[in-house]
Amino acid sequence: MVVVMQEGATEEQIQSVIVRLMRMGFDIHRSTGALQTVLGGVGSNPDFDTREIELLDGVQEVHRILAPYKLASRHFRPEGSIVQVGNGVAFGGPEVVMMAGPCSVESLEQIDAIAAVVARQGVRVLRGGAFKPRTSPYSFQGLGYKGLEYMRQAADRYKLLVVSEVMDHTQIPTMLEYVDLLQVGTRNMQNFNLLKELGKVNKPVLLKRGISATVEEWLLSAEYIMSGGNYNVVLCERGIRTFENATRNTLDVSAIPLVHKLSHLPVIADPSHAMGRRDFVLPMARAAVAAGADGLLLEVHHEPEKALSDGPQALYPQQFEELVAELRLIAPAVGRTFQSSVTCS
Ligand code: PEP
Ligand code: MN
Repeated sequence: MVVVMQEGATEEQIQSVIVRLMRMGFDIHRSTGALQTVLGGVGSNPDFDTREIELLDGVQEVHRILAPYKLASRHFRPEGSIVQVGNGVAFGGPEVVMMAGPCSVESLEQIDAIAAVVARQGVRVLRGGAFKPRTSPYSFQGLGYKGLEYMRQAADRYKLLVVSEVMDHTQIPTMLEYVDLLQVGTRNMQNFNLLKELGKVNKPVLLKRGISATVEEWLLSAEYIMSGGNYNVVLCERGIRTFENATRNTLDVSAIPLVHKLSHLPVIADPSHAMGRRDFVLPMARAAVAAGADGLLLEVHHEPEKALSDGPQALYPQQFEELVAELRLIAPAVGRTFQSSVTCS
C-alpha cells in the first residue's frame, strides 16, 4: 500500500499513520520529499479497508498495490490453471471449449433433440437449467430434479458432459449426482453461503459474473470458493448492466484479457445472456474467442419459438452450425484449437 501525505502534514500526523499501519501488520518504508511524505506499507495481508487510512488526519490518498484476493490472483499460479471437467474436457488449455443447449430443460424429448443437435457439432458439454432463477415468480421455474434426470439421460446418450445451475446450497448433494460442472448464476455471484459450500465439493464450478459486479468483486467471489479448498473454478463473463439498454446486457469483452492478466483462472463468455437476441449472438461469440476466451456457453434450441424461457436468444440449429464453422477458423487464428471433429451423428 502507498500512502501519500498532504503537503504540510505534521510529523505527528505522519507518525500516527505509521503507528496505525504497523498495527495493521505493515512494514513501513518512508520517503520524505521536499513537499510531501510518501509511506510505503509492505505486508502480506491484503484484507484491509483503505478508508481506515484515508480518513486519518494529514492523509491525501491511499493506493492499494496488492489485490485483495490471493488464491485467485495470477501471482498464485503464474503459468495459469487448467480446470478439468469430467473425462477429457479442460478449460484453460489450448482448446476453446464449447458448451451449448437450451436455457431450460423442458422435457426429455426436448433435451434429447437439442443434445443431438449440439453433439453433431462437436460440443463437449450440454447446458440446461433445471432450477431457473427467473425475474418474475410467475415465469417457468424449471423442472427441478426431474430436469436433471432428463438432462443426464440425454447427455449420456450423446457422450456429453452436463453443466447446470445450482441456486441454493441445499441442492448441491443431489446435483452432484447428475452434473459435471456446477453453474453459479449471475444473481448468486455473491451468495456467500452457496460459494462457501461449493468450496467443499470436488467438482468444478462455473462462476458467472454478477450483473453489476466489478472484476474485483467477481474474483473475490472466486476466492470464496477457492479458500474452501476447491480450486476448480471457471469464470464466465455473461454481460453486465450498463446505461445502454438496446441490448439485454453489455458483454464486457474487455474483461476477458483483463481477467487473464489478473487471475490464473480460465474465463469463458456467454454471449446469449449478454445480447438477449439471437442475431447478435454470433458476432459476440466471434469477438469473445478472438479476445482469448477459454470457452463459450451458448443457448441453442431446436424450436426456439416454443421455448419456455429465453427463446429469442436461442440459436437455431442452422445458426449454431454456421457459428461452429466460423469458430473453426477464428480459434486457430488466435493460437487456439477447437473441437477436432464432429463426435456424434
Ligand atoms: C443461465 O445460464 O441459464 C442463466 C440463468 O444465466 P445468468 O445467470 O447469466 O442470467
Ligand atoms: Mn437463459
